[in-house]
Amino acid sequence: MNFCEGCNIAFPDPRCPNCGRKKLRAVNEDDFCLVGRVERLFGDNLKGYLEGEGIECVLRPYGTGVRSKFALPLESYLLYVRYRNLEYVRELVPEK
Ligand SMILES: [Zn+2]
Repeated sequence: MNFCEGCNIAFPDPRCPNCGRKKLRAVNEDDFCLVGRVERLFGDNLKGYLEGEGIECVLRPYGTGVRSKFALPLESYLLYVRYRNLEYVRELVPEK
């Protein structure tokens, strides 16, 4: 598996399917990889569940445009987990 440091995604192709970058490296078990976009409430619940399982995850607010300016809650997160947990967590996240 290759890993794009710009996009934080792991994939088998010789170039990044997201940004097209060709300067890639082999993915490391500890790399945080993008799982996908999740709804805010789902993300909060999932984080609690994963922490209980001893799995680290990162939730990055998605869509920091107009909404955050008016202090409205953000709708969704981008979810990242370590590569070694990626397959497991993917099964918990609904397909977009
Ligand atoms: Zn990329």
